[in-house]
Amino acid sequence: MRIVNDGLPTAMFWAISRRFATDDHEYIRKDPTRISVTEAIGSARESVLRRKHEDDIVVNASSLVWALDGVLCHKLMEDYGQATGDAHELHLEMDIEGLTLTGRVDVIQSSGTMTDLKRTKTQTFADGPREKDVAQINGYAMLAHHNRDRIKAEHGIDVDALKLEILAWHPDWSPMTLGKKGPPYPQAAIYGIPVTKWDYGRTLRYFASRVRRHREAREGKLPLCTEEERMCKKSHWGVVPKSGGKSVRNKDTKEEAEEHRLSMANPENYELEYRIGEPHNCMYYCSVRAFCEQWAAERLKGRQALVR
Ligand code: SF4
Repeated sequence: MRIVNDGLPTAMFWAISRRFATDDHEYIRKDPTRISVTEAIGSARESVLRRKHEDDIVVNASSLVWALDGVLCHKLMEDYGQATGDAHELHLEMDIEGLTLTGRVDVIQSSGTMTDLKRTKTQTFADGPREKDVAQINGYAMLAHHNRDRIKAEHGIDVDALKLEILAWHPDWSPMTLGKKGPPYPQAAIYGIPVTKWDYGRTLRYFASRVRRHREAREGKLPLCTEEERMCKKSHWGVVPKSGGKSVRNKDTKEEAEEHRLSMANPENYELEYRIGEPHNCMYYCSVRAFCEQWAAERLKGRQALVR
């Protein structure tokens, strides 16, 4: 990955580019026999393209600012958040489906609670922990179980009855918004969310299937990204002011949207608009979108539809 300065002050550019040049995820990416828990949960297509085009990917330094933010918080916890007997930043591994699955656990407290820090926006956990976060921390719990003798010997922590928790940290939280919105807006900027621990067999089956998918993709059987991996927003009908502006209500079907429009005080001022679900990851975030045939084919299809 080549990081370019898109207008940041030089000191900040150096801080970002040097930090991410030494990121150990980069090391894992270059080793075809290893896969991180986060990578295993994510798209196999994106991972393979990323490994293949690593040296050709150009990233603006400013786009890494949130990643840097996460790094700083983890560093803070590592340097100052340690209580006696806790284990911080544990590197754990196990072999599964022909690859080495790796993970770096934020904290295992001496009381037997594993904590995974997530610095993210307030709305992220409005419906509880996301599936990928639950899978991730359960992956770490599986690695801890697999390395339980080492953890007991080195840190004196028994992980047999491990409890799991996400430490949610919202930089955009504000007491004013809490006052206006109320629940489910979080009550505080930082809080713990307990996560259900899967049984070992379930976690093993889940990660065996994920790692197999990635291994087969590395061997040439490149799968298409799913709608979820592409962060596809659902297509819907919006009830939109004729004067312009945002949709006041979104509905799955035209009939539902029309029913809502007719129930409004001045329905004549509103019209219906069909909004195609857009794949936000492909459009805005995915680092390999310039090399992805799936996305290229879809853009071509979109253009042809416009020409017609
Ligand atoms: S561009 Fe879209 S389809 Fe292609 S790898 Fe990225 S997320 Fe997947």
